[in-house]
Amino acid sequence: MISLGFLTILISVGLIAVFKISHNFVARITSLGIVAATVFVVVFGFVSIKNATAGKQGVVGYTQRFIQENFQGRCFNFEKYAHSSRDTLWVVLRMDDIQSGAWNELSEMAVNDAIDRGIPPLLGVIPKDIENDKKTLRYLKKAKCNLEIAQHGWDHQLQDGAKYNGKAEFEDLSYEESFERIKKGKGILEGTFDTEVTTFIPPRNIYSKGTIQALMEQGFRDVSAKGDWTFDFDSTTYSYDYNRLETPNTIIDQCKLAWREKNICVIMTHPQDFTDLSGELDVEIYQRYYLGLLDQLSSYDNVGFITPKIYNDIYNQETVQ
Ligand SMILES: [Zn+2]
Repeated sequence: MISLGFLTILISVGLIAVFKISHNFVARITSLGIVAATVFVVVFGFVSIKNATAGKQGVVGYTQRFIQENFQGRCFNFEKYAHSSRDTLWVVLRMDDIQSGAWNELSEMAVNDAIDRGIPPLLGVIPKDIENDKKTLRYLKKAKCNLEIAQHGWDHQLQDGAKYNGKAEFEDLSYEESFERIKKGKGILEGTFDTEVTTFIPPRNIYSKGTIQALMEQGFRDVSAKGDWTFDFDSTTYSYDYNRLETPNTIIDQCKLAWREKNICVIMTHPQDFTDLSGELDVEIYQRYYLGLLDQLSSYDNVGFITPKIYNDIYNQETVQ
């Protein structure tokens, strides 16, 4: 470090001399720029090495984290997933219906509360018009390294303009129709968020054979719907069959059943599950049913949180077959 500091002083003195002597404007500005850049590089290098020797991930790790924390928002250290035991019982927290014009404080709080607990949520994002929603973009771009963005259909509308009773968007779509919708949606999500999208969540969890064919051809690796596949949902925070919120204990019991068959339990949730009749956040319900669930799951030593993309990396397998 001493020689580096000495070198900086030498370069700076030399360049300041150029600055003083030279009458050439370009030479003066360039010399000033080089002095500033040299000082910055040395100071940054010094701080990096200081942190590295203090046991913090080395210079490269420190630099990456520095950039992530200061320019991209806070990021999990995903290394911990790679070190998890293969016997870990995994939980995927799947949050659906992230869409243009619907992002609010509640969505942000639900995602932040998960991230703060070390849980990377799987967000089902409806692609149509999302590129025009500045509020959603601002948040998701910042938080994207802490979550996985999945494609949740194209526009999530029922077929033939139906309002309540009708066929789900991909229910009986042909290969060609599915291909078209998936392609434009994937293009928007990947272009907007600058991330690879490899998980598909069909609206209402229903899809046709043509959908699967179209997904495979477009590089999707996982589907989360209703069924027996690895990432199909096993539990949900709100039961539409009984019209009621499910308690953390009920959800964990359902996960225990799922863990008998596979090492994954996918829990489906929507932030609006925790609102009152006027659509406002019900704090007590939110704390008891949502945070209560996250905290209870986090308290088990052998339970870990994951998204399909990270799972694919650890287990080196994909689930679209
Ligand atoms: Zn949905």
